[in-house]
Amino acid sequence: MTAIADRPTTGPLSSSAEYVALDETWSTHNYHPLPVVIAHAEGAWVTDVEGRSYLDFLSGYSALNFGHRHPALVAAAVEQLNRVTLTSRAFHHDQLGLFCRELAELTGTDLVLPMNSGAEAVESAIKVARKWAYRVKGVPANQAQIVVAGSNFHGRTTTIVSFSDDEVARADYGPYTPGFVATTYGDATEVAAAITPNTAAVLVEPIQGEAGVLVPPPGYFTELRRICDENNVLLIADEIQSGLARTGELLALDHEGVRADLYTLGKALGGGIVPVSAVVGRRDVLGVLRPGEHGSTFGGNPLACAVGRAVIKLLATGEFQQRSRELGEHLHSRLGELVGKGVSQVRGRGLWAGVEIAPGGPAGREASKALAARGILCKETHDNTLRVAPPLVITREEIDRGVDAIAEVVRG
Ligand SMILES: *Cc1c(COP(=O)(O)O)cnc(C)c1O
Repeated sequence: MTAIADRPTTGPLSSSAEYVALDETWSTHNYHPLPVVIAHAEGAWVTDVEGRSYLDFLSGYSALNFGHRHPALVAAAVEQLNRVTLTSRAFHHDQLGLFCRELAELTGTDLVLPMNSGAEAVESAIKVARKWAYRVKGVPANQAQIVVAGSNFHGRTTTIVSFSDDEVARADYGPYTPGFVATTYGDATEVAAAITPNTAAVLVEPIQGEAGVLVPPPGYFTELRRICDENNVLLIADEIQSGLARTGELLALDHEGVRADLYTLGKALGGGIVPVSAVVGRRDVLGVLRPGEHGSTFGGNPLACAVGRAVIKLLATGEFQQRSRELGEHLHSRLGELVGKGVSQVRGRGLWAGVEIAPGGPAGREASKALAARGILCKETHDNTLRVAPPLVITREEIDRGVDAIAEVVRG
């Protein structure tokens, strides 16, 4: 045993390789990051420990929709840090009610259940839907079912991975939670066929990010809404990645003019500063929860609420939705030019794209590494798809720079 004081790792290390080695020695290997060690970030740009700059083309999977360290968000966080950061829900504080009212008003919903991570928001929505099924719909005890879509990603808890069909995410974590019925994403007929008198909810992502930015066929959500209405079933939209301006609307479901009964929000809700998530929706549904029946020590804490309120303020102007729409059109038209030139397909909406590398081109990870070498940070999902999701503060010229680099690397 080496005494902690003697370990040579207390001061700043000198190279990226040393930091990577440190992570690999001491941090559980549940991720396979690119060997870029970020030390500083601002807006759409990050700088590594060696002083190299990179354009962020991933935005923390949409957790950084407003870019790194947006001044209004940092100011709100600093102000709150100097007042009060945590109370637990044993007491009230002066940010919770304002955060919940402002988030409900922004999303056109009645009630807000604040949590921390996205997975917790999805878990909370599942619990609420089941309780609603037993207490309101009259489903017999422990019989409630939730219809989900194949190739989904809703988080990493044991219940959530129980209805994942990604074997890497699911294997060895059984016994699995029952009560979920799988359907093909985009196929409303299968959802209709899966409904029984015991169905509590249909849970779907408006666009499947992790699966490779899959956009379902037009009319899918209109159909799901109709099926849910006809069968007294809740429609739950997981907007954790697709929501909060990423697709050019506040919520991705807004593109189809469809309202869900419950929405799960997360990622960008914390402004890239703190983990903040929430379930928002109908009063008669979220209203089934009574004191003691659900909770979280950190959920709705003062710091989270203050940062969340600053995020809501940015979204309320519509500026970011508009940026995503306009710049997204540019991104998609530029990426579209690559089809047949190393790219087989481009999917997505707004500033969000799944770029399918054509057969014969580099594997996704090789392409991501080659992009990093050209100063663009992007990450593959599955083997051959690049997930492009730049911060919404990015400029047209910066988008061109990233797309030019993608054009180079996909040619192989
Ligand atoms: C990221 C994500 C989650 C899980 O969020 P965490 O904060 O990582 O727990 C759930 N659903 C969707 C659609 C996501 O993209």
